[in-house]
Amino acid sequence: MSTKSISDLVSGAGCMDDYDPNSMPVAQARKYIRDYLSPGVTKECVPLRNSLGRVLAEDVLSPCNVPNHDNSAMDGYAFNADDIQASGSTSLKVTGIAYAGKAFEGKLGGGECVRIMTGAVMPLGADTVVVQERVNVEDGVISFTEVPKRGLNMRYAGEDLQQDQVVLAAGHLMCPVDLGLIASLGLGEINVYRKLRVAFFSTGDELISIGQALGAGQVYDSNRYTLYGMLTRLNVEVIDMGIVRDDPALLEQALIKASECADVILTSGGVSVGEADYMKMLLEKLGQVVFWKIAMKPGRPLAYGKVGNAHYFGLPGNPVSVMVTFYQFVREALLVLMGQPTPAAMPLLSAICTEDIKKFTGRTEFQRGILFVDSDGVWKVRPTGAQGSGILRSMSEANCFIVLDETVGNIASGATVQVQVLEGIV
Ligand code: AMP
Ligand code: MG
Repeated sequence: MSTKSISDLVSGAGCMDDYDPNSMPVAQARKYIRDYLSPGVTKECVPLRNSLGRVLAEDVLSPCNVPNHDNSAMDGYAFNADDIQASGSTSLKVTGIAYAGKAFEGKLGGGECVRIMTGAVMPLGADTVVVQERVNVEDGVISFTEVPKRGLNMRYAGEDLQQDQVVLAAGHLMCPVDLGLIASLGLGEINVYRKLRVAFFSTGDELISIGQALGAGQVYDSNRYTLYGMLTRLNVEVIDMGIVRDDPALLEQALIKASECADVILTSGGVSVGEADYMKMLLEKLGQVVFWKIAMKPGRPLAYGKVGNAHYFGLPGNPVSVMVTFYQFVREALLVLMGQPTPAAMPLLSAICTEDIKKFTGRTEFQRGILFVDSDGVWKVRPTGAQGSGILRSMSEANCFIVLDETVGNIASGATVQVQVLEGIV
């Protein structure tokens, strides 16, 4: 994939005229990250069920036609369309029964039909099915007046999947329907990329873990829990390294340990102004990392690069900022590193904003919103209230981000805004 090296980015290489680490637009940061990512996880063969949420390492080809034979789509009577009377009623003699899994062995003669169930193989000589509700049956003879088109109510061999066709391409993220699709080919094992290993820790002298009594000035570490949740939904292998004090020796140890066991390292805290110089020194020593001030709110500081062979994201410490930067930058990067070459962008939908929003141009805001449908069936969105980056409740109440990009200024109630729905994005 990428042939660019992180060192170009760190040095802000000459060709990047618009490169300003102190005011990095969201879209540009996303693009830089994409350009410098180098996926490299190995393949493994897993039982079909275990492939859910994994990325295909090879194309899956169909070893057979699905369905494998022409069969009936309905319960009815199979016959040859040549036997239909051009006008008036058609009468056909019932000569046998075909069930799903138990075919009619004979061949249809002229003026004959076979009672047939849904999924049963079409008898030799038959090419059309009339549904049972449309016929009269008397003394083993059916009659109907409607003229069904040749081929009606039957499914053709290979109409779902044809032998040797690419059913799913390498790079595809496996979802529930894919398990069924591959099962329909009779395949029990599948080649996927191995799970990405993501190590993370929280930094901060003020942090304590759940289960301990809260002392003066202390804060429970919530970031490791939101990160655990978001990472688990992405189906990566999660390596929780706990809390690391703001101590250079301890941080160095933790970063080295993480780079030895993980493909990706995430840290939260310690990259904002003041603290950054300190982390900067350490990351310069251990790897190659850029420190950006992203033109966004929340989530301004972001560090990105490599520590040893591991990809590194230094997320801000504020609980909402962690989630926003994860969804806006880390999620897509992880999908690429998992083996998906071009992950689908998160959809942006339009909704009518029910309140005024104060907003400066020049930066992207990800306000937390509640998307709802009003009694007239119109989709609307209401901000959750206080939007501070430390107010995790705002994320919990929200079901979407209201995405206000750099060009957007103040929003008046009733204006159309873009929203990103949270449920289902990981
Ligand atoms: P920092 O980015 O380290 O300056 O942290 C910014 C704010 O986020 C501070 O108020 C921290 O106490 C808070 N914070 C940092 N890490 C965490 C965490 N893991 N859980 C909860 N709050 C945190
Ligand atoms: Mg801190």
